[in-house]
Amino acid sequence: MSAEATNPAVSPAPAPPTAHRRKGRPRIDLRRLGRAALLGPTTRDRLPDAISHVVEAHRAHHPDADLDPLRRAYVLAESSHRGQMRKSGEPYITHPLAVTLILAELGAETTTLTASLLHDTVEDTDVTLDQVREQFGEEVRYLVDGVTKLEKVDYGAAAEPETFRKMLVATGNDVRVMSIKLADRLHNMRTLGVMRPEKQERIAKVTRDVLIPLAERLGVQALKTELEDLVFAILHPEEYQHTRELIVDNAAQDTDPLAEISDEVRGVLREAGIQAEVLIRPRHFVSLHRVSRKRGQLRGVDFGRLLVLVNEDADCYAVLGELHTCLTPVVSEFKDFIAVPKFNLYQSLHTAVARADGQVAEVLIRTHQMHKVAEAGVVALGNPYAPPSEEQADGERVGGDGERVDPTRPGWLSRLLDWQQAAPDADMFWSTLREDLAQDREITVFRPDGGTLGLPEGASCVDAAYAQYGEDAHACIGARVNGRLATLSTVLRDGDTVQLLMGQDPASEPSREWLEHARTPGARIAIQRWLATHPSPAADEQEAQADKRKDETPAPRPAPDEPATPSDAANAVVVAGRPEANVRLAGCCTPVPPDDVTGFAVRGGVVTVHRVECAAVARMKGLGRAAVDVRWGDTTEFRVTLVAESFQRPHLLADLTEAIALEGVAIVSATVEPPTQQRVRHTYTLQLPDVANLPGLMRAMRNVPGVYDVGRAQHQAAAASR
Ligand code: MN
Repeated sequence: MSAEATNPAVSPAPAPPTAHRRKGRPRIDLRRLGRAALLGPTTRDRLPDAISHVVEAHRAHHPDADLDPLRRAYVLAESSHRGQMRKSGEPYITHPLAVTLILAELGAETTTLTASLLHDTVEDTDVTLDQVREQFGEEVRYLVDGVTKLEKVDYGAAAEPETFRKMLVATGNDVRVMSIKLADRLHNMRTLGVMRPEKQERIAKVTRDVLIPLAERLGVQALKTELEDLVFAILHPEEYQHTRELIVDNAAQDTDPLAEISDEVRGVLREAGIQAEVLIRPRHFVSLHRVSRKRGQLRGVDFGRLLVLVNEDADCYAVLGELHTCLTPVVSEFKDFIAVPKFNLYQSLHTAVARADGQVAEVLIRTHQMHKVAEAGVVALGNPYAPPSEEQADGERVGGDGERVDPTRPGWLSRLLDWQQAAPDADMFWSTLREDLAQDREITVFRPDGGTLGLPEGASCVDAAYAQYGEDAHACIGARVNGRLATLSTVLRDGDTVQLLMGQDPASEPSREWLEHARTPGARIAIQRWLATHPSPAADEQEAQADKRKDETPAPRPAPDEPATPSDAANAVVVAGRPEANVRLAGCCTPVPPDDVTGFAVRGGVVTVHRVECAAVARMKGLGRAAVDVRWGDTTEFRVTLVAESFQRPHLLADLTEAIALEGVAIVSATVEPPTQQRVRHTYTLQLPDVANLPGLMRAMRNVPGVYDVGRAQHQAAAASR
């Protein structure tokens, strides 16, 4: 029962070109397994024929494995599922058998296979978890429990998200839970053709959004690529068909440029005395589709890649050296995922060589061990509870406390488990999970203590803070990136060193703006939670003051420390039809030329002038007050109020005032608010000889060390209340 034979969505095609059979993974005729299963119980202690394929595959990876648990698990699963049929009409036991075979071929150890045989018993039969524990031990019980669905009856629409949440939490303690789930989904996807089209589509989408990214992150390439192709066939049947035709056409060609290059490579390596296996790895459908979208016209070399397998790590570089010397390398394609491994265990050298006719073939170089890990990822790691064997310790656990120190509990999984705890409901969890998993590129940043943080691409210092400190990051007051003070909104790049500056004040608060700079669910959820439990006092106060103003005076009240009206501004603004009018520039938005401005007549014949976008303008209009036409006069000399936000440090005031003076600007008044959480706000009212100098002045102030923001005073009420 191969994918091609049972899934109508994957239309039965001409026998796939031999080149496209996955090497070393023979398709097993599961129909035969089904028949064997129907033959009923076998004599005790003899291995049932139905599991002979599983046993064979298992022995190939683990020659010394004790097979008795597999036999007992099969007998229990077969007897308890007996009489149940799959939608396809086959005996149900064919499903756990097929799932177990997938895992056995990937090299999973015996406990995983035992649990895999039993994985649907608790969900679909009378077998209980206690029974599984009694007969197979706690580990097997834990794995079976981990993949057992939560009941629709109890959870309703939340059943699927909550099942995934439960499964991910279980995966955090034992990554084998996810191995079984992925193999389970692969077999279900292979046999999805019997379902209604809507159901196929729904399952395919969850597979695409959740399971494929998980397979990728856990490094289980073999499952990921097949899942991708199955999803492709269901969600994009036309493109799938087109790709299939391309592959069939290519296989019918007389010459295969990849075969020619691989011969050449073999010759080069033989002459150099390097023992290596040179294989052609066909691209899977989705990969080929991507390449064809990118390049337009496909050439013979695009249908696959060369895979060079060697015995020792050092041989990888020896092969690379020979290829780059004896053939024509395309150096821009070279990537070293051995020295700088990806976050998902994957290790290889990637390069490309050009033929005389200009066709470029991609080449992957890795050891046999790296290949096993590249294909099977965490499944190849075996039992996470066992002390690492020599084979496992070989090259997979790296020093430091980076992402790879514990491959069964990678950094992304820890982060995911952290934020899921805070996700209040199933919907939030589900949408955040998909979002999190969609961020597929990771960067690594360094901490000053030599440790590392893995973050999604586009992450900022805010994300780094929450990744490192959890909710304690609320007290973060700043950061140094590569030694320089940086705002928390700074987007980090791969390899940056980030030092987070933590305040000592236990009442420290995160800023609402951090949300705009948080890319990781961990940071976003933590900030949102804090905001939800701490309604913004600034917003409240603004509201209260706005209400008060309605009764008192139509002009917004300037902050107490703010000289209300720069008096010499009077002749800077001309009021249409009233040249003698007493003009006042509003303290709330401190307009300067060439801001668009509007005026309102207030008590005493005074006209206050606001920037048109000032919130006060909308409020006044809302109160039915008529705006007065105003425009700027000829004066360029002006006053402006600037607010500088900084980290507290000695000599800050001196440095700021010096920077202002160097710009030829006079300081009319300055106020420094007492520092909160080591952040400090300076407010300067400045006399500019020429308003055109304003941008340069603001730049100069921003360049003062410690200053992270300089802006025009926008709203004194909000500013004063922070
Ligand atoms: Mn299943």
